[in-house]
Parts: sequence; structure tokens; C-alpha cells
Amino acid sequence: MVVVLLGPPGVGKGTQAVRLVDELTAVHVSTGDLLRAARREGTELGTLAQGFMDRGELVPDDLILDLVKEHLAGIDASTDVMFDGFPRTTDQATGLDAVLEASGRKVNSVVLFEAPDEVLVKRLSGRRSCPECGAVYNAYFSPPVVEDVCDRSGGTLLHRADDEPDTVKRRLQVYLDQTAPLIAFYQDHSAAMTRIGADRDVEAIYADFQVAVTGSTGDVS
Ligand code: AMP
Repeated sequence: MVVVLLGPPGVGKGTQAVRLVDELTAVHVSTGDLLRAARREGTELGTLAQGFMDRGELVPDDLILDLVKEHLAGIDASTDVMFDGFPRTTDQATGLDAVLEASGRKVNSVVLFEAPDEVLVKRLSGRRSCPECGAVYNAYFSPPVVEDVCDRSGGTLLHRADDEPDTVKRRLQVYLDQTAPLIAFYQDHSAAMTRIGADRDVEAIYADFQVAVTGSTGDVS
């Protein structure tokens, strides 16, 4: 099963994805996390991506598609995959289709998370993420047990430079201009699309998310 999570920055896709893939033993593929790892490791890709990320712009499609292809090559084709933050342009979506088709797969379902801009801005300003395991917290809404320490890995939580207010505004505009057209792209596609209102309690969102991906809540084995 291949699932694509769509939605603006700050809508909570990452938080929900980390939790559900744990239950499903699926793989979470977040291009944002992969790019941040490349930056930490000082790879050529990391260096190339840095300026785009710091400005809140998209990293060029060819770099992203190479990154995803390389990453997928290390994952068995029978493994369930949940893409988070990818694809972000129609060219990336077309590229993903081609990569999947080569191994007899396709995007099976798309989950679209939605929330008003003012909610997203507040969430991003409080967001703290774990550089080690990718878990995401919010200093206001879902803090870790110990301030700035990841409950899962014990890593020190970071506030991302691109979660600063001006960059957040740019990222929301980039989402509208370049990523939102994917909603129409996938509506024309054979994948099932579920819309989830993400301006709600995290448990209510998670229950809807489970149903969207697995067809039921609770027992997802
Ligand atoms: P995210 O953590 O998903 O919000 O991504 C952080 C930043 O990484 C984005 O603002 C982009 O600069 C870059 N990025 C992540 N995923 C992609 C993608 N699929 N295409 C282009 N740029 C991306």
C-alpha cells in the first residue's frame, strides 16, 4: 500500500504519520526529514538544498526525485509506504508514479489534511522536532514530558529555522502555488482521497486518519 499525505506545513501530517506507521509497521518517508539528515551529514545534496530550505522554497524536483528513488531502492517493494511532504509538485507526482510503476505499484490512497492559515502559523511557531527520530511536538499543544527532550529517542528537540514567521508565510504561499494543485491531480487519479479537518483534537484527527488509511479504528493489525 502506498499512501500520500497532502497538506500545508504545520497541519500535523508528520505527527500523525509517525504514530500510524508505528502501528502498521509501514515506512514513513518524509523528504523534509531526509533533506535535514543530508544537511546534518554535510552531503552534496544537503549543501545544494540548504538555501532553498532556509528561504522556505522548494528544493528542485530533480534533486527530490533522485533522493526518493535512492531511498525507495533500499525498501522492499512489499513494504507499505507513507509519503509525507512528497510529492509537492505535479512533476514530482508524475515522477513518483513512474518509479512506483516500475515495481508494479501505484499510489493507493491520498489523505488531505486541512486547517486555516492562522492555526498553521501558531502551530509552526510552537513546533519542536526531534532530529534523531523525526517525532514532532508542539510547545503549546503537545509538549514532550521533559521540555525540549524527545519522549521517544531522548534527543534534544529543535525549533527549525524555517519555522520563523517570515519563512512560514513564504512556505504557506509556496504550498498554495505549487502543492495545492496536487489535490486536483489526485482527484483525476485513480487513488482514493480522504479530506481530514486538522483543526481539531489530535485524537479525533488520528481516529479519522486510521479509518482513511486502514478502513477501521483501533485494531489495525
Ligand atoms: P517539511 O519538513 O516537509 O516542511 O520540509 C522542509 C523543507 O524541505 C521545505 O520547505 C522545502 O524547502 C524542502 N522540501 C521537503 N520536501 C520537499 C519536496 N518534496 N520538494 C521540494 N522541497 C522539499
